[in-house]
Amino acid sequence: MKWWGWGDPGKVFPAERTPALWPWAKHRLGIDQEELIPPVARESIRLRRPRICAGLLEKLGAVLAADQISSDDEERLLHSYGKSYPDLLRVRRGEIPFPPDLVVFPKSHGEVEAIVRAVASLEVELIPFGGGTNIVGGINPGASERTIVTLSLRRMGRLLSLDAESGLATIEAGATGPEIEESLAERGFSLGHYPDSFEYSTLGGWIATRSAGMQSDAYGRIEDLLVSVKLVTAAGTIATRTVPASSAGPDLNRLVLGSEGTFGVITEATVRVHPVPPARDVRGYLLRSFEDGVAALHEIRRSSAVPNLMRLQDANETELIFVMKTPGGGLKALLHRLFGRCLRARGYKRPSLLIVGFEGTPADVQNRRKAVRPILRRHGALPLGQRAGESWSKEKYDIPYLRDFMMDYGCMVDVAETSCTWGRVLPLYYRAVAAGELQFKSNGLKGYVSCHISHTYPTGACLYFTYASRQIPGHEIDHYYGYKRLFTRLFLHNGAALTHHHAVGLEHLPWMEEEIAPAGLDALRAVKASLDPEGIFNPGKCLPPEPVRESDARERSREWRTPSSVPSPSPQPTR
Ligand SMILES: Cc1cc2nc3c(=O)[nH]c(=O)nc-3n(C[C@H](O)[C@H](O)[C@H](O)COP(=O)(O)OP(=O)(O)OC[C@H]3O[C@@H](n4cnc5c(N)ncnc54)[C@H](O)[C@@H]3O)c2cc1C
Repeated sequence: MKWWGWGDPGKVFPAERTPALWPWAKHRLGIDQEELIPPVARESIRLRRPRICAGLLEKLGAVLAADQISSDDEERLLHSYGKSYPDLLRVRRGEIPFPPDLVVFPKSHGEVEAIVRAVASLEVELIPFGGGTNIVGGINPGASERTIVTLSLRRMGRLLSLDAESGLATIEAGATGPEIEESLAERGFSLGHYPDSFEYSTLGGWIATRSAGMQSDAYGRIEDLLVSVKLVTAAGTIATRTVPASSAGPDLNRLVLGSEGTFGVITEATVRVHPVPPARDVRGYLLRSFEDGVAALHEIRRSSAVPNLMRLQDANETELIFVMKTPGGGLKALLHRLFGRCLRARGYKRPSLLIVGFEGTPADVQNRRKAVRPILRRHGALPLGQRAGESWSKEKYDIPYLRDFMMDYGCMVDVAETSCTWGRVLPLYYRAVAAGELQFKSNGLKGYVSCHISHTYPTGACLYFTYASRQIPGHEIDHYYGYKRLFTRLFLHNGAALTHHHAVGLEHLPWMEEEIAPAGLDALRAVKASLDPEGIFNPGKCLPPEPVRESDARERSREWRTPSSVPSPSPQPTR
């Protein structure tokens, strides 16, 4: 993973394949400069020296080999931030005030237990780290005086067992999406959990953040796939049972789901798997409007034949996709223009692109397609065929690289996601787009706000907004938080969720009490106090230890102070 951006260090956004994109972005966002604002040179970044409390290295050395404990600057840099827009802004400038002091790499559940036991009596905090793809500040160390140890699950990625008869796989928590699918595919199985961060995110991270994959409509979110889990806490290990169902009190799996590393370390989990689907069919459609698309999704979702994948992009997002597909010139460009003219003549003036995908046995795919087709037709969906679907599938993991490309040119690009019941979908959509556009205008900027729906439920849907504009030099972070607050307030005031799948981390802390009520927050704090009495695990994330005001969000994300309940540490010798 790049230290300054998304993905493979050897890969950049393929701008040469999208010649129309930059001229379009310049016009759309009013960008008048061509000057690149690259990340600072790696060599110019100086991290503070690791602060290692007395006894820590001896204790860790007794349970881990030397190559499993690192105070190396490369590792500490890579574990300093997640991948949110403010994370990338800071890391690109070389602002890394609070790197972890150590990174440890356990290789088994037993080693995680031994690490937790070893640090229990020391002035240490532990941050569980999966793939580091978090975009709410969930893995960022804060301004603690204790030694910050990031516990990376990178070396725990094995498929431990497969029960083919019951369709269950037990997998170590550090397994990334590709590792999980490859090891299962060798045995003829698949998990089917594909978040957009699939290439880097891990099973433990998915569970800890209640992740949703792009096929969650068919297979469910990670919480629907999880059967049992092992969580190493300071008070001992919780291992839930691998049984199809239980009524033995409140569900402990649900307590681990969404715990964001604050209760302990997830070391392994048993998840529901299915045979690798032999047939697959992904197609594109154009709807005359986002409203027509929402009506189609609603009707499909309320029917008995749900596709695996439905992604509906509003007119602005569809425009961006078309721009990215526009050829530079020649016959292809001419055909592209003619196609656009033809569409407009048929009433698709500001169309919405819908991707619909099925996988399963050939008969199942055919039956569900047959059931969905008349619904799509009724709502005016124009079939674009399998090529459009396959091209979307091929390029879907390239999109996150676009943000780095735009940031190179001094642009803010971020996302805001929520979920709400069907009746609220369109009103919320209109309000959020209007509010975003108004705020851009009042900041004297040309802005872009778009939305897609990528997860649906019988009861409602997830709305995923993307917004972009020029950065305001010198005020980049405040500028960003203005939009963060705007969208979040709007979601909560319109009966929508604080977050649908990005979790709480630091970014959503100010609104947690409003989301789950003071009594709910107290209950979770009591659980934390019972499992983690010394406040070792990922302090300050997910559960605000004290009332947090909206205006604090910016500072909190930058500098999380140690909760007052933690005793002050003794002076720490450096390594
Ligand atoms: C480009 C991009 C696209 C994304 N798309 C999606 C999407 O489609 N769906 C979605 O749900 N999310 C998405 N995300 C958000 C992110 O990928 C998810 O939150 C993901 O679940 C994080 O997994 P991770 O392994 O990277 O966890 P990390 O980022 O390493 O950690 C996330 C949180 O979980 C905790 N944690 C991690 N591992 C463990 C463990 N083993 N035990 C205890 N706690 C642990 C951490 O302490 C932290 O609080 C996206 C992010 C990016 C940057």
